[in-house]
Amino acid sequence: MRYLIVGGGMTADAAVRGIGSADPEGEVTVIGREEHPPYDRPPLSKSLWTGMDEDRIWRGTETLERTEVLTGRSVVNLDPDGAEVEDDRRERHGYDALLLATGADPIRLPGTDEGVVYFRTLDDYRRLRSHAGKGANIAVLGGGFIGTELASALLDHGAEVTLFFLEHAPLGALLPPNRARRLLESFQRRGAQVHPEVEVHSVVPGDDGFQVLSKEGPSRGPFDLVVAGLGVRPNVGLARDAGLEVEDGIVVDPSFRTSAPRIFAAGDVAAFPFPVSGRRVRVEHEDHANQSGVMAGRAMAGEAEPYDHLPFFYSQVLGTPYEALGITDPEMEVVEVGGDDRFVVYFRSAGRVQGILLWNLRGRMREARRVFRLEGELPPHQLRERIDPE
Ligand SMILES: Cc1cc2nc3c(=O)[nH]c(=O)nc-3n(C[C@H](O)[C@H](O)[C@H](O)COP(=O)(O)OP(=O)(O)OC[C@H]3O[C@@H](n4cnc5c(N)ncnc54)[C@H](O)[C@@H]3O)c2cc1C
Repeated sequence: MRYLIVGGGMTADAAVRGIGSADPEGEVTVIGREEHPPYDRPPLSKSLWTGMDEDRIWRGTETLERTEVLTGRSVVNLDPDGAEVEDDRRERHGYDALLLATGADPIRLPGTDEGVVYFRTLDDYRRLRSHAGKGANIAVLGGGFIGTELASALLDHGAEVTLFFLEHAPLGALLPPNRARRLLESFQRRGAQVHPEVEVHSVVPGDDGFQVLSKEGPSRGPFDLVVAGLGVRPNVGLARDAGLEVEDGIVVDPSFRTSAPRIFAAGDVAAFPFPVSGRRVRVEHEDHANQSGVMAGRAMAGEAEPYDHLPFFYSQVLGTPYEALGITDPEMEVVEVGGDDRFVVYFRSAGRVQGILLWNLRGRMREARRVFRLEGELPPHQLRERIDPE
């Protein structure tokens, strides 16, 4: 079998390993747009800022047997009938089974990219890091995971940080309002300038640096550099142009098969039936990239199994770690247990737990999984006893 993987991220690496476990004789080619072979993305906004060596991010995909990794190439065309793709050097690559692991790209503001790092890749990390010394004046756009992680890292490195985001508080799309508000105050105590409920529409060069323009107020700046974490859009263009079924992501069944024969999709780009609700979702987390990549690889090699893994997510902000499982949405019914420093939030809808957030509670994911799977239908007052945050 000839296996072809488009995209050179963590999902691609996991898929190579999945293929190898089911078909050790298979030949695999990975084609990735970045100049680097697959590497771990989460350290780019976390451990690399706290002393981890860059050498430790590599996945070693290119060292696996019967695996070829082509870097610095984009696949520009997919022909499902001819079972081949074309790359930007006009070279064609045939396949017996194809995986689309094209992931997602950052959402950009209109206008030029000058002065803005849309943070996603190792090269983005290197660029930001080279500006991030003591006294650097950096604007961070976005109050989600990436924006808050980077703002924390930059503050730790002595930069002056100004944070702009749409929500009422940082992580406002994850935390209940009172807790998000406390996080905003923590950023302020650490010396960050914080601008909530601001919709930035452009970044423009000025005499002394870059100005941030928003609908709500005067232009702010100048900044030495602007770094943006405004969310991502899945890279579905290839699939759509080839006639595959696409919604918010590439539509797949529980074994990561797309609507076209012999073509699979996994990781950030795939819209799959979520194990608890059956609703089709995309998940943009490392755990899902790893697990779905392996499962898709095995399915490509004829060992398909339905995916019933509940992916989790981890992050950290101002030195506090947190993890989440399932769907976390403060618009749902919320049950909070614990104090200011350590707490659990259960997110409920349709009569059951849909998501669980563990704040500053390391090593408790197994308990959360048990509640989710076995006891998800408990009424709120009984939930309070399930995971003890103390
Ligand atoms: C800074 C950062 C920190 C993160 N931290 C966490 C975390 O702490 N916890 C967590 O759970 N998740 C985290 N994530 C999310 C996690 O990294 C993603 O879910 C994961 O990287 C998805 O992997 P993927 O391979 O599906 O997609 P991607 O990582 O997007 O990789 C896709 C690759 O395919 C390439 N590509 C796209 N189109 C083409 C094409 N046509 N031809 C060739 N190549 C193409 C892209 O250039 C890219 O290299 C973080 C993400 C970022 C950016």
